[in-house]
Amino acid sequence: MLDTLFSVKDHVVLITGGSRGIGKELASAFASRGAQVIIAGRNKETLNKAANEINTSSNSVSSEVCDVSSSDDVEVLVNSVKSQYGKIDTLVSVAGVNKRMKAEAYTEEDYDSITNINAKGAWITAQTVGREMITQGSGSIINVDSLNTYAPLRGTTPYAMSKASVLMMTRGLANEWGRHGVRVNSIAPGFILTDLTKKVWADETMQAWGKANTPLERLGTVSDLIGAAIFLASDASQFMTGQTLRVDGGFTAGINWPIDL
Ligand code: NAP
Repeated sequence: MLDTLFSVKDHVVLITGGSRGIGKELASAFASRGAQVIIAGRNKETLNKAANEINTSSNSVSSEVCDVSSSDDVEVLVNSVKSQYGKIDTLVSVAGVNKRMKAEAYTEEDYDSITNINAKGAWITAQTVGREMITQGSGSIINVDSLNTYAPLRGTTPYAMSKASVLMMTRGLANEWGRHGVRVNSIAPGFILTDLTKKVWADETMQAWGKANTPLERLGTVSDLIGAAIFLASDASQFMTGQTLRVDGGFTAGINWPIDL
């Protein structure tokens, strides 16, 4: 028996932040399962490179330049996807940035750039795609928050604040849009090795700390997030909305002793 429960075949999947890191890996995962994928990001060259690397004869990825902090850009993106593919089954809202420093050192500009992309950008994207999904009467929105949503790591307070906003947006939109057949969930990744985090994990002390405090005793890879994303996009999660899947190797499950107990 062919199990279609987890199928995303022929789904139209829009992935913001799809040109690198987690978003690019998810784009590849959806495309290889027969979805029509559109990746969006700010840099045309990076997007084209990612789309070329993912594209094969059997799956298709297109790309659109879009800064999610601009409502005009997002409007153009969503209209373009709608006119080319006729619908949007899934939005994976991955675009995000971070800047680590002591709280007292952030400038207003630093704060605005993090908040405008991570919190406002995720809101604009969900709202604009959500309007289409409400008209369609169906859709799945997958946001990306963080383990910082629940307990901020030192040096990431504005980022943690922005991701806490994504968590509350996920719950609020799920609560409002369930009646329209639109589900809204999020994924909270743990420590995943990407451009965003490679500097911090290049430090051996950090690596040892990360592994020691993660029950599964390793840092995450971008492919660790595929299962959660396919699940949330597919009928396998059809009675699930307003929830967050923490894919963090168990980091947020508990706190370790510094001795072997
Ligand atoms: P990454 O490798 O730096 O990739 C970020 C992606 O977002 C890129 O495609 C980037 O493309 C795009 N992007 C950034 N700002 C954008 C904007 N204003 N408009 C449109 N696209 C934008 O980061 P990552 O590690 O894959 O992280 C992806 C998401 O996961 C982020 O939301 C991050 O907060 C979250 N996350 C990551 C980790 C981790 O350990 N890596 C853990 C928890 C949560 P351009 O720069 O070309 O626009």
